[in-house]
Amino acid sequence: MRIVLLGAPGSGKGTQAGLLLEQLGLTHISTGALLRNAVKAGSELGLRAKAILDRGELVSDRVMLGLIEERLQGDDVAGGFILDGYPRNLAQAASLETLLEKLGKPIDVAIQIDVDSELVIRRIAKRAKEEDRSDDTEKTVRKRMKVYQEQTAPVAGYYAERGLLTRVLGDGNKDEVLQRILSVISVGSSSGLQPD
Ligand code: ADP
Repeated sequence: MRIVLLGAPGSGKGTQAGLLLEQLGLTHISTGALLRNAVKAGSELGLRAKAILDRGELVSDRVMLGLIEERLQGDDVAGGFILDGYPRNLAQAASLETLLEKLGKPIDVAIQIDVDSELVIRRIAKRAKEEDRSDDTEKTVRKRMKVYQEQTAPVAGYYAERGLLTRVLGDGNKDEVLQRILSVISVGSSSGLQPD
């Protein structure tokens, strides 16, 4: 199964991706994590990306497409994947569709995790204390939320037009959210559908 996870910063995409891949045996592809690893490794991409991440802006579509194209060549994606953090605007959604068509691996479902912005801001403040993320400052979070509203929120409509969008509520604890996701993709204990 090939899944795109959508949701605001702090909506729990990364957490749910982690739980889903345990359940479904899929590979997690987080573009935020790929970029943070590049920053840590001090690669050329990392050096260029750091300032952009810290401002809460988006890395260019061209760079992101190169990164995701390379990642999708990995042997570990053959059994299915969860994309977390990509696509983040309509241009990325269109490029991804073309790329996956070429690879013969179209998206099966896009899952939007809906949360209210107050909850998100509280969660991110907590995460900033727990993890060492230099982009979790209040100023950057506000900027990321703005970028999300303006550029990423329309991506849900892109998948809705293709009949691929499903939405779940992201409040409650992580297992409650996981159960909601499993039930909308019909991979609960009561379903016979197998992930491919
Ligand atoms: P969050 O969803 O909490 O904002 P991510 O880990 O998904 O966190 O992303 C962190 C940062 O990485 C973003 O603010 C952005 O600068 C960069 N980034 C991640 N994915 C993309 C993408 N698809 N396109 C452009 N920039 C991206």
